[in-house]
This record gives sequence, C-alpha cells and structure tokens, in this order.
Amino acid sequence: MIQFQLCNPTDIRFGQGQIASLADLVPADACVLLLYGGGSIKKNGVYDQVVAALGERRRVEFGGVEPNPVYETLQKASAFARENAVDFVLGVGGGSVIDAAKFLSAMIASDSDDPWDAFVQGYGQAPAVPNGAVLTLPATGSESNPVSVISNHGRELKIPFASQAVRPAFAIMDPATMLSLSRRQLENGVVDALTHVLEQYLTMPVNTPVQYGFSETLLEVLIEWGPVLVETRSMEACENVMWAANQALNGLVGAGVPQDWSTHMIGHAITALYGIDHARTLTMVMPSLLRHRLDAKQAMLARYGRRVWRIEGDDDRAVAEAAIAKTEAFMVRMGCPVRISEMIEDFNADGLVDHLVRAEQTALGEGQDIGAGEVREILALAA
Ligand code: NAP
Ligand code: FE
Repeated sequence: MIQFQLCNPTDIRFGQGQIASLADLVPADACVLLLYGGGSIKKNGVYDQVVAALGERRRVEFGGVEPNPVYETLQKASAFARENAVDFVLGVGGGSVIDAAKFLSAMIASDSDDPWDAFVQGYGQAPAVPNGAVLTLPATGSESNPVSVISNHGRELKIPFASQAVRPAFAIMDPATMLSLSRRQLENGVVDALTHVLEQYLTMPVNTPVQYGFSETLLEVLIEWGPVLVETRSMEACENVMWAANQALNGLVGAGVPQDWSTHMIGHAITALYGIDHARTLTMVMPSLLRHRLDAKQAMLARYGRRVWRIEGDDDRAVAEAAIAKTEAFMVRMGCPVRISEMIEDFNADGLVDHLVRAEQTALGEGQDIGAGEVREILALAA
C-alpha cells in the first residue's frame, strides 16, 4: 500500500429536501455569491429552493458559467464578487459550476485580476474564501474534492488545479434535482464516474484489498444502475448513481493506490480543441488506452474482469481482454462514442500532443511512462 493522507471535511447532506439545509450551512452574516450556469436551475425549481433557504442573507448572483468553465468568464465573476464584498461562494449546478465556484473562491482571495500564471505555479497554496456546493448533476465528484478543471480560451488550455483550500465546506446532493437532466447528461454522468473509478483501480497492483473492494462495489453499482437510471429515472436509480458518482472521486478509492488519469488528461485536451462533452472524450479514448497498456495493467484488469464482470477462465490475459471489451460495450450501451471518428471528422493528433506539451502533461499514467509517442499510438488505436 502507498502512504496516504485522507482528510475529507466536506459536510455531505444527501437526500430529497436537503437544499433547505443551506439555512444552517451558510453563515448567517455571509455575503453570498450564488454562481450558476446556463439557467437550468431557474427552470427546475432548484433556484427557488436555494433562494428560500438563504433567507435574509445578503446575496448577489452570477449566471452564465459554461459547461467546461472558462477562465475569462471567471475573471468577470471575480471582479463582480470583489465589487460586492462577497465572502462566500455557493455553486449551484453540475461539475462545471462547482469547479468554477471553487476556482473563483481562490480568485476572489487573490490580489490579481489575472492570477492564472501564479495559480499554475502554486494553486495549492492559494488562499480562498469558503465555498459550498448544491449538486444538480452527479458525475464529477467535484462537490467534495479539491480539484477544479478550468479552460483558458486565450491559451487554448484545459487543465486541472488542486487545492485543499477550495474543497467545498458542504455538498448538498438532492437526487430529485436529477429529474430534469437530459438523457445525454445522465449517460455522461454515469460514464464519467465509471472512468474515475477505473483510473484509480486499474493501476499497478499494490495489494490494497480495502480500496479494491470499494472500487468494485462502485463499479457494480454504476454498471447495474446506470442503464436503469437512463431508462426509468426512478428515484432509487437517481439516489444510487448520485451517491456512487460522489464516492468515485472524493479521495476514498484512490487512497493507498497508484493513480492513472491519462484518459482524463487526453480527454481534457480533446475538449479544449474540439469542445466535446468531458465524458464523451473519455469513452473515445479509454478502451484503446487500456488495450495499449494491457501488459502493465493485466493483473488488475483480470481481477476486474472476474470480480465485476464475472468472466470465467484461468488465462489472465484473455480475462483482461474480455474485461476491456465488456467496458467498451457498456460505454456503447450508455450511448457514448468509443472511437474518436464517431464525433470528430478531421482529428489532428499533432495538435492534441501539442496541447499536452503546453499543459505539461507529457509523463502520463501511474508509471509516468505515457509520453508523446505512446499518446500518438493510443490515438491511432482510438481513431
Ligand atoms: P456540466 O458541464 O456541469 O453540465 C452539463 C449541462 O448539464 C449544462 O448544460 C447544465 O446546464 C446541465 N445541467 C446540470 N444540472 C442540470 C439539471 N439538474 N437539469 C437540467 N440540466 C442540468 O456537466 P458535468 O459533467 O457535471 O461537469 C463537467 C465538467 O467537470 C468538465 O469541465 C470536466 O472536465 C469537469 N470535471 C471535474 C472533475 C473534478 O474532480 N473537479 C472531475 C471530472 C470532470 P446549466 O448550465 O444550465 O446548469
Ligand atoms: Fe471526469
């Protein structure tokens, strides 16, 4: 097992009606910035519940955070927040709004209108005003982790930042908010959560049966309940997927194990260059990446095949290959592309590798052994 620290102080409030608990969670004397996206919260009743729970607190609002939140938009939000002496950021939405709220909480506390370079060099040390999350789309786990993924249009970059100072103080997860999600967003959420688990589980074996068991349970839940969610949108399915997606990336399954994240880094570059939904960039890369890394990942792939997919047989390699095929078939079942050409006509592998170089992502994977050459081979397999 690898040495680890696990400290997740985010106060989780899960279940129908929990938005009302904002009344207790947000400091009574706070000046709150209510941050939201394109307006879904105004149509599905979430906004009204949030405003009612905030009561008499001083509140200003900033809407229009894009899917794959854009730095230049957050510069405007930051100036607006400082003008209004905001001291608490409340993100209400999916991973994009919550990532934006977290990044913004550090921008507000910084002295600069353009802190990108300083953040790239030392975001982990940046001070932040507190923030909280009301989740409306289970997928990213952002609501209780320290990561923000931000796109900088000026530099054509999409990169992750991590800072304990921006971990949300609380995360409200009301599964009823999912009832207004489109089928596409539900599919995206399930496969994003699935890949989060796989990027932490399918790595070099380090004999961590506790973590492996947590991961296997989450995978089984997503594989069983993802299709039920998409087909029926039952409250049981909403609850199970929402909770699994949170647990997939809140630090627990990654504690003590090597972590990969190469699929995510390649996926971020695809979104930066082609504007494709985060989850769909992952499914177009991951099956080919796993096939390319079969030697290094064979032991855990075989365990995954036997325990999660119930594949029988003594030949580890055959079970590992069958496990990748099952994963790919599940992604297809969830309506997602498993080849780049399904969504991008003129894909430019050189441009993508150039993005990874500019984002300083050239030693990817749990062994830091996926460089530009390997990425090209993976992209050729995924074409
Ligand atoms: P999202 O980009 O937050 O939202 C996608 C769309 O769903 C938006 O148009 C949004 O509309 C809509 N939506 C959200 N909740 C809704 C609801 N209840 N009803 C109807 N529509 C709703 O999607 P996401 O997949 O959660 O987040 C993706 C971002 O997170 C990417 O930038 C990705 O890179 C990042 N990410 C972060 C982490 C992390 O650890 N921090 C991990 C993985 C990925 P509105 O804008 O109108 O609300
Ligand atoms: Fe993700």
